[in-house]
Amino acid sequence: MNVLIIGAGGREHALAWKISQSPYAERIFVAPGNAGTAQIATNVDISITDFEELAKFATDFNIMMLVVGQEAALVEGIADYFAEREYLQHILVVGPRRAGAQLEGSKDFSKQFLLKYGIPTARYETFTAETFDQGIAYLQNHPYPVVLKADGLAAGKGVVIAQNFEEARAALSGMLQQNQFGAAGSKVVVEEFLQGIELSAFILTDGKEYVLLPEAKDYKRIGEGDAGLNTGGMGAVSPVPFADDAFMNKVRQRVIEPTLQGLQQEGIPYTGFLFIGLMNTNGDPYVIEYNVRLGDPETEAILPRINSDLFELFKALHDHELGQFQLEIDPRSATTIFLVSGGYPGDYEKGKEIHGLQTALPENTLCFHAGTKQTHSGQIVTDGGRVIAVTALGQDMEEALEKANAAAEQITWEGRNYRRDIGFDLKQYLAE
Ligand code: ATP
Repeated sequence: MNVLIIGAGGREHALAWKISQSPYAERIFVAPGNAGTAQIATNVDISITDFEELAKFATDFNIMMLVVGQEAALVEGIADYFAEREYLQHILVVGPRRAGAQLEGSKDFSKQFLLKYGIPTARYETFTAETFDQGIAYLQNHPYPVVLKADGLAAGKGVVIAQNFEEARAALSGMLQQNQFGAAGSKVVVEEFLQGIELSAFILTDGKEYVLLPEAKDYKRIGEGDAGLNTGGMGAVSPVPFADDAFMNKVRQRVIEPTLQGLQQEGIPYTGFLFIGLMNTNGDPYVIEYNVRLGDPETEAILPRINSDLFELFKALHDHELGQFQLEIDPRSATTIFLVSGGYPGDYEKGKEIHGLQTALPENTLCFHAGTKQTHSGQIVTDGGRVIAVTALGQDMEEALEKANAAAEQITWEGRNYRRDIGFDLKQYLAE
């Protein structure tokens, strides 16, 4: 079976790597892909939102499965495009239609949904340019810190945690009056700051039945000790030591099941991955956000822990048999460390030659490319902020951390940076 994966990150490299292990996989294509996906699949130079070209490609190359890694394609309606055209309807699209993608595409929509279906989340109010003054009054009376979120997609940069009224007023004004995030910031969700420790849960669902995938914790800040600016993600760990059966049962009962019931009640079809960002507050899960695709870097940590064939999993999705699917999970621990360009998440240079990729990595270590490209002379060079994700599997978290750090050290380029403390905050839970 031929597969087309949409995206260009470490997540899509990990998806291509996992799919390539399946005996059902024939040709694997990635649009647009990177230098890593080119080693195990064929890159296709089509933009992720050029649905017409993607559909033409899918027809010409007999694609039977479309796996959408990247959210922008979903929010813009790639799944609708394929569902609405008879000649494309035989293709299984792993990714929800626009209506379902609103769970990620609009924070105001997802907050209303959470509230309507009684799913635990932070208290909130939404403001627009017209209600700016009410927003200011709300912020004057709000306890601090407070969280302000641009409604639409802002590549992880549309969230401000304001420590005091002055910061909150500046953020609200930036979004609503100065158009800082364009249309994405034309509505702002102002919500209560939740104390606790975060983790991400992932399911694959047909809107009714679901399979729970391994959970992960990601590390968003650029600096060690969770300092500095937010990034797309600097690393991830799976499993998460505090996500024991009791906690995950609460996630199933209080979050996943009411979410699926809510989607059904709203008449919103949903086929694909759903990523639920959670805060564990004193042992209880609260939803921070929904994403309608897998996470990056979490995918690089969770796919190596899934022993089941992804095609069989997608076939169960297609046949509405996820309820009976027994996902085989590797009990080992995985740690992913992202190597990034110097300066990221601010300005950085591209085109730096990457060394150490040809050197054999330690056993049970994987290397996924993100912002990389191959030059005409065959060199692999940096081509983005987040460049290479290394994942190591170990008998326990400490072993995985050690191996991932050793592998990260081997891959170098001018200015490369990475966090050496991924997973350190979880060590306290190991001792329990
Ligand atoms: P991304 O897609 O990059 O995860 P996003 O822009 O969709 O981010 P959120 O996930 O909603 O935004 O928020 C980003 C981060 O801000 C969260 O991962 C969390 O660390 C913090 N955050 C968001 N909401 C809250 C909250 N209510 N209380 C405490 N922290 C929060």
